[in-house]
Amino acid sequence: MHQLRRPRTESSVSIIGAGVAGAWHALLFAQAGHDVTLHERSDANLMLSTSHWAGGMLAPYCESEVAEPLISRLGLRALDLWRRELPDTPFNGSLVVAHPRDRNDFERFARLTSDHRRLDAAGITALEPSLEGRFREGLFFAAEGHVEPRRVLPKLHERIIAAGGTIKFDSDVSADDVEGLVIDCRGLAARDDQPELRGVKGELILIETSEVTLSRPVRLIHPRWPLYVIPREDHLFMLGATSIEAEDTGVSVRSALELLSAAYTVHPAFAEARIIEFGSGLRPAFPDNLPRITIARDNRIDVNGLYRHGFLIAPALAELTLGYVQRGQIDNEVMRCA
Ligand SMILES: Cc1cc2nc3c(=O)[nH]c(=O)nc-3n(C[C@H](O)[C@H](O)[C@H](O)COP(=O)(O)OP(=O)(O)OC[C@H]3O[C@@H](n4cnc5c(N)ncnc54)[C@H](O)[C@@H]3O)c2cc1C
Repeated sequence: MHQLRRPRTESSVSIIGAGVAGAWHALLFAQAGHDVTLHERSDANLMLSTSHWAGGMLAPYCESEVAEPLISRLGLRALDLWRRELPDTPFNGSLVVAHPRDRNDFERFARLTSDHRRLDAAGITALEPSLEGRFREGLFFAAEGHVEPRRVLPKLHERIIAAGGTIKFDSDVSADDVEGLVIDCRGLAARDDQPELRGVKGELILIETSEVTLSRPVRLIHPRWPLYVIPREDHLFMLGATSIEAEDTGVSVRSALELLSAAYTVHPAFAEARIIEFGSGLRPAFPDNLPRITIARDNRIDVNGLYRHGFLIAPALAELTLGYVQRGQIDNEVMRCA
């Protein structure tokens, strides 16, 4: 791998895209003494980012059912960085439950994952009193966490400014328009440079009810998708998420039925909840569904392909990019040349 000209610590860094990847890069580079400008084409609500639509689960152990070991490695490191930078991040664990007819899939999930504890009905009630009498067994992943993307991204942006960085919203730029080292975190919009990227649609529904209280994400084993209910502030719950090889941003009736049925299975009181929002986002993915830090020759680094793990792994990717720029450290599993 060729060596990028390493900028001096005070030299300027322009980061394009203020989703979870760009925000974490901006934060760690600003803290390391770089003169950071973060450019984002949308306003502070980030409606044009995939990150706006995410569940925000920090679940390296649950994800190991389907993801490569690299995701767990990056995810475990990232949990420490979330704790360090945002100590309020809830680490209440994740609960996995199954309908009796999906018992074989439940056992398969238990085999393919680690760091969980089996719970009986009483154990589930002790953790989540609202679920009393709903499930006979569950898996508890105590070390996992979750964030609320629409609240945590503004907090990350505040921390970037506190660390001396600048954020320019409504700033639609290309790498040629900006100064210094360029870190391209444009997500799916980077397809002009990285044609292998594709979008994997994830649909979600936001509902509101005060009839159910949950303290952690609850995953329901499902033959096709990992469906989950994530508690948000103000009695909101996110129901997610499908995973479909399609690039439109609509929500199909079929997906809506499956998401709503999953909520009803977790607790019948969700049937009375108010629907607040239907939405979908396109997860930026390379063909192998693994993230890449691509070192280009023109003082530019591209960070992309975070797929379904952006919140889980972005802090660790940012740390790797910083390690490369400051010390020339190379991570062969993630880094490649353009
Ligand atoms: C329904 C759903 C649920 C998910 N749940 C989880 C989860 O529970 N846990 C998890 O870890 N991950 C989850 N993900 C995945 C996660 O959302 C993505 O991996 C992550 O958001 C990708 O982040 P990113 O910063 O690479 O891209 P984005 O969030 O898309 O950010 C790219 C940014 O670049 C900006 N941009 C593009 N072009 C320009 C330009 N020319 N100039 C300036 N700005 C530009 C865009 O406006 C955008 O804000 C989920 C995704 C979906 C869709």
